[in-house]
Amino acid sequence: MKYRSTAGTSPEVTLEEAVVKGLAPDRGLYMPERIPALPESFFKRLPEMTLPEMAAEVAQALFGEDVDPAMLKALTEDAMNFPIPLVKVRDNVWSLELFHGPTLAFKDVGARFMARLLGYFNRGNKDRLVNVLVATSGDTGSAVANGFLGVEGVRVFVLYPKGKVSPIQESQFTTLGRNIEAIEIDGTFDDCQALVKQAFLDPELNGKMMLTSANSINVARFLPQMFYYFYAVAQLMAAGVKTDEIVVCVPSGNFGNITAGLIAKRMGLPVKRFIAANNANDIFFEYLNTGEYRPRPSVQTIANAMDVGDPSNFARVLDLYGHSHDAIAAEISGCTYSDKEIAETVKATLEKDGYQLDPHGAVAFRALEEQLKPGETGIFLETAHPAKFKETVEGITGKEVEIPERLAAFMKGEKKSVEMAPDFNTFKQFLLSHK
Ligand SMILES: *Cc1c(COP(=O)(O)O)cnc(C)c1O
Repeated sequence: MKYRSTAGTSPEVTLEEAVVKGLAPDRGLYMPERIPALPESFFKRLPEMTLPEMAAEVAQALFGEDVDPAMLKALTEDAMNFPIPLVKVRDNVWSLELFHGPTLAFKDVGARFMARLLGYFNRGNKDRLVNVLVATSGDTGSAVANGFLGVEGVRVFVLYPKGKVSPIQESQFTTLGRNIEAIEIDGTFDDCQALVKQAFLDPELNGKMMLTSANSINVARFLPQMFYYFYAVAQLMAAGVKTDEIVVCVPSGNFGNITAGLIAKRMGLPVKRFIAANNANDIFFEYLNTGEYRPRPSVQTIANAMDVGDPSNFARVLDLYGHSHDAIAAEISGCTYSDKEIAETVKATLEKDGYQLDPHGAVAFRALEEQLKPGETGIFLETAHPAKFKETVEGITGKEVEIPERLAAFMKGEKKSVEMAPDFNTFKQFLLSHK
């Protein structure tokens, strides 16, 4: 399978090139040249399949031409080695709990898969060292660092804004050591992102080192996220719920997660429609309402992993629907909630339904509450464990949130990081000294 750029001027590339490059040279995002339909027999077997089995079959349909089948099966099953249960919150509303992985957020899925795929492409290539650069405001850095920990031939540089990520999040990428290097930037998240972007554009750096990204612009990170959409529907089937009117609601920031769901639907997954739930950063909601896409600087909210002012995967959504606003609006609806509304939802859902939402899941839950029609069954993606936002959640509910053991374990490690001014030359020299 070849991968083409959404910008349309770069040549098509192999899966390996798309994964190693990240972004296409014409600044477009890579898309599979065609979306394979899964056979009816696959959907018949869905309710009996385990998550690793299901993931392996979906991976085979997408990546089977480009990766040795036995290796692909093994690496997919290894990446998907934690549970993703679908939990009933109300009669017609279900939570897909994506927070049972090593760093307690859904990004573990894509990060673990990408790390293993990159390791596969690097096998036997002892001289090639791939450098993954990642700017993070919290969740991406921890998932990527843990996903890539110990993968041969890959080194990870995590850039994060000093004093602006929670201690729990910071400990998840500064205490690992080995092939993970944490860089603490004296500035904002935007400064971190700017340094990374500039590095990808610097001819001298790229001539001397192989650099790639591990955010959701990378096909190896965003595509595997479709595994759990199939698994969510499979669990509904297994519970005896009819599957002809399923609505899936995704708390969205960069739109990598929901785009994977949209592609799963093209592969045959029975989802009637999607809701892209936004916090105050509601550029997509505005696009649905007006037909105009106007990116703007992000504002800070309590669902901070969704604080994105120019969602990078919007280009993929446009591409999937042939740039037709009507086609997009027919399949995806939107919403926007303030911090006050998000907090109300966290509190009310704990009191009424006995279910502890995190602020991101709360945005999606509220959208289903308001938009679900009679006869429809709603699934929302609970993208992070509430303990990752312990102070915020406890401030809202007045009740303690327990920290799971594997999260507490990170906090016991010793922090190692390099402090740096937000200056490109300093960053560049630092990278070159690691050549
Ligand atoms: C990254 C993240 C999101 C947003 O996902 P996108 O794929 O960027 O839309 C939502 N919730 C949590 C907890 C996240 O970490």
